Amino acid sequence: VIARQRIVVIGSGSAGLIAALELSEAHDVTLVTKLELTESNTRWAQGGIAVAMSSDDTVAEHIEDTLRAGAGLCNPEAVAVLCAEGPARIRDLIRLGVGFDQQNGELSRGLEAAHTRPRVLHAGGDATGLSIELALARAVRAANVTLLEHTFAADLVLENNRVTGLIIIDPNGNRRQLSADTVILASGGAGQLFLHTTNPSVATGDGAALALRAGAEIADAEFYQFHPTALATADTFLISEAVRGEGAVLLDRAGRRFMQAIDERAELAPRDVVARGIALQMAAQDGEPVLLDATGLERTHGAGFLARRFPSIHAACLERGFDWTQQPIPVTPAAHYWMGGVRTDLVGRTSVPGLYAVGEVACTGVHGANRLASNSLLESLVFAHRCATFLNSEDASHFAENAQDHREKVLALPDITSVSMPKTLRDRTTLQTLLWNAAGIERNGASMRAALEQLLQWQVEGTDIASLETANLLTVARAVVTAALAREESRGAHFRNDFPTTSPAWQHSLVYAQPIAHEVAAC
Ligand SMILES: Cc1cc2nc3c(=O)[nH]c(=O)nc-3n(C[C@H](O)[C@H](O)[C@H](O)COP(=O)(O)OP(=O)(O)OC[C@H]3O[C@@H](n4cnc5c(N)ncnc54)[C@H](O)[C@@H]3O)c2cc1C
Repeated sequence: VIARQRIVVIGSGSAGLIAALELSEAHDVTLVTKLELTESNTRWAQGGIAVAMSSDDTVAEHIEDTLRAGAGLCNPEAVAVLCAEGPARIRDLIRLGVGFDQQNGELSRGLEAAHTRPRVLHAGGDATGLSIELALARAVRAANVTLLEHTFAADLVLENNRVTGLIIIDPNGNRRQLSADTVILASGGAGQLFLHTTNPSVATGDGAALALRAGAEIADAEFYQFHPTALATADTFLISEAVRGEGAVLLDRAGRRFMQAIDERAELAPRDVVARGIALQMAAQDGEPVLLDATGLERTHGAGFLARRFPSIHAACLERGFDWTQQPIPVTPAAHYWMGGVRTDLVGRTSVPGLYAVGEVACTGVHGANRLASNSLLESLVFAHRCATFLNSEDASHFAENAQDHREKVLALPDITSVSMPKTLRDRTTLQTLLWNAAGIERNGASMRAALEQLLQWQVEGTDIASLETANLLTVARAVVTAALAREESRGAHFRNDFPTTSPAWQHSLVYAQPIAHEVAAC
């Protein structure tokens, strides 16, 4: 018999919903999420989930593709777990009612960049994330989980360096404390760090900032993946890589293909290569977006193909005034996915006892320096399940063994807890512009040193949720730029024009700050 615990899960994307659902029978589970239950990065995922489930594919090949994309920085053990356990997690989703698209009685499979064969399962054409989110949300609503929607996780409570609770801001703006034996961060990514991002407004890096303030380690913070193709409109709507997987091509403003001259894999080269290729081309045409031409697919697959295969993108294009069946559409790269995050082991344990992390907020090591397309939903399914299985089978005494110290090879972040910053950051866009310019697709030492100096002078005033989010972004920005400045090489998604080659000497980066004890009595 395992001891019943009070478990608080932060976040209701795929990772948080799975963790909450699977823990709900054996434990008292509270799920805290800052908007309505279904708002998350998960909800917006289009292309699908990479998994080796067909007779012409193997787990070994999926592992190989993942390791290759990760540019020498993946944890091979974590990758093996991801690819081997993926098929079982897909079967779980099917049992929960996710209707993956089928063709001739078999699961349809899309091709995405850097995969040696088509293995990306999708649902509702390009509405994979929404299908998963709705199925999981339905299951969680029916389970024994206390749901706190429109509730903001503000800080972790620590006693003797162990997490014992969470400070929340409820829908009425009141701060209060939830006691917990275990807190699971499932709070997603931090795309809002950058001026251009595919991520929704909730992706403000809160979980990583909470974890840093609690003394947890952030690994590989410098690795941010920029998606090559977001619609060049104010809301940077994502145009899935699966569109290029089906055969759409990139054109310069004169209508010529330019990716073939950059990489033999052309439009299906790894994301960092394509994103940099587009950025270079945009620089050569005065910042004007490049064009994505999908019109040929209507000719090769028949009229109506784009609307059938990509209904969400089709509708989004039309809403924004583009008929992509007739004309190429303007696209630009945008921040998309954070490979770095709170360092965890293979069951989600962080370096702080009582604190777990799953999904995009975690760094399990499966993505290394660059994520293979459509491996992130899979990561959230596999590792949220592993975390829940661990907590369902072990007792709390295991927490004490949790905090292995890896700090002999760290990048310390000494100023993160300082409270005497001389300047006030009034506007989130200023921060996002700084990060986009200094730590975006292409970086160098001079601009990052200047950016870090600036970042270390700012503080954010205000206790409303938007200000707290901006303060969290500032904390994560310091971690990202500190790590990116220290890594004097180029690897995967991290490209420095002053160190353009990969150096075998560099391995993982770790960033940490001194823990801040939050006053329990203050709530
Ligand atoms: C447009 C787009 C398309 C994508 N397409 C794909 C794809 O095709 N395939 C793929 O594998 N991946 C894709 N990704 C990436 C993938 O969607 C994410 O990596 C994955 O969904 C992350 O799941 P998660 O559960 O970790 O986090 P999320 O789904 O982001 O959920 C995080 C949750 O935490 C909540 N939260 C955050 N901070 C707080 C706080 N302080 N207090 C309370 N709650 C908080 C949020 O509201 C949200 O509910 C895409 C991402 C985007 C943005």
